[in-house]
Amino acid sequence: MKKNNPFENSLEQLEEIKNIINLDDNIYEQLKSPQKIIEVSIPVKMDDGKVKVFKGYRSQYNDARGPNKGGIRFHYNVSREEVMALSAWMTWKTAVVDIPLGGGKGGVIVNTKELSDNELEKLSRGYIRAIYKMIGSDVDVPAPDIYTDARIMAWMLDEYEQIAGRHVKGAITGKPLNLGGSKARGFATAQGAAYTIDLAVEKIGIKKGATVAFNGFGNAGANLAKIMFDKDYKIVIASDSRGSIINMDGLNVDQLIKHKEETGSVINFSGGETKEGHYCMEEEVDILVPAALEDYINIDNVQKVKTRLIVELANGPITPEADKVLNKKNILIIPDILANAGGVVVSYLEQVQNAYAFYWPEEKVLTKLKELMDKSFNEVWEQKEKYNTSMRMGAYALGVSRVAQAMKDRGRV
Ligand code: NAD
Repeated sequence: MKKNNPFENSLEQLEEIKNIINLDDNIYEQLKSPQKIIEVSIPVKMDDGKVKVFKGYRSQYNDARGPNKGGIRFHYNVSREEVMALSAWMTWKTAVVDIPLGGGKGGVIVNTKELSDNELEKLSRGYIRAIYKMIGSDVDVPAPDIYTDARIMAWMLDEYEQIAGRHVKGAITGKPLNLGGSKARGFATAQGAAYTIDLAVEKIGIKKGATVAFNGFGNAGANLAKIMFDKDYKIVIASDSRGSIINMDGLNVDQLIKHKEETGSVINFSGGETKEGHYCMEEEVDILVPAALEDYINIDNVQKVKTRLIVELANGPITPEADKVLNKKNILIIPDILANAGGVVVSYLEQVQNAYAFYWPEEKVLTKLKELMDKSFNEVWEQKEKYNTSMRMGAYALGVSRVAQAMKDRGRV
């Protein structure tokens, strides 16, 4: 099986949109690489007294529209190319939802399951010390991603503020509520996706009670499963890193989430049958939600996909080759740079609240999120129709043109 390079995939998508929208060559050349990327070594004295050195990255792809913004991933598969790709996708994403930010991303090569809480805190603080000069509320603002969460953001903010010698709450988003986090940030990615699904199912006539499969059941996946379960969708498969659980009559998502909290995995849940591996492609479902890592649907398994709608809650879960096959099969795909943009939208709203030191009730945050997601969905759909292309290329047309326009306005041509 060919190992996919996520950054090459992101460049392939950029090349495709260049030809569709006739992107200026001088802008295109600049959009083919991040403006800045650093690699850092983070020494951590482990609980046994030995020092272990972890490798980390931070990539700032393009800041023409505003300060860079993007999560920090702690995962053993993190690589320079992955972080570069994720920062490119963030750049298009913030432009698609039209918030005044650029695109960044960070990552550390680590298996968090092998660290104690003490070691995890030291690593989180060490990473911030290593990239301190590169970040800040008006430069580049980190947030959570895979295997990082509000608790880790709190350590990171504390480290940042200790070095800065002052409070700078807007320097990190996805913080706990009592440290300046925003209401609804915890489930914002899922909620944003849910708004786009409401519009997509109307377009293609998917009815109440439709079946849904989730590959990935963490912050993004489990929260969306819960929202859809409450709206009477039938969640039939959920997979995580340890295996899958299936019940074609529908899983009870409230109980499944409780089971995962107690045991660390969806497997062995008594309300379904446990299967080995990532089982979502084995059954026909109305909606498939990749909510884990890149490359999930690739040229080797794409023919197995039997669904009508794919919602890319994960970043980059479909390789460009597989994407072409799915488009030919007429499967509608809500692309990552739209589907999972709810997280960065509420991170932006968190920064706005931090700037004013004034905090909004949850309803207000959700109203703003819905407004932005609905508007973005409709604008992406218009571009899709205008260029007679996929929703992904519709989103790229919107996002890349906005970045290009900001570069032109700044004279970066
Ligand atoms: P998370 O760490 O909370 O959850 C990740 C989930 O994926 C876990 O259930 C894990 O067990 C599972 N997983 C790991 N490897 C897997 C594999 N090979 N197959 C199936 N499942 C596997 O992370 P998250 O924040 O939910 O992020 C998931 C995806 O959503 C990522 O692509 C991330 O970039 C994207 N995303 C997250 C946010 C956010 O706000 N958290 C925002 C935008 C996009």
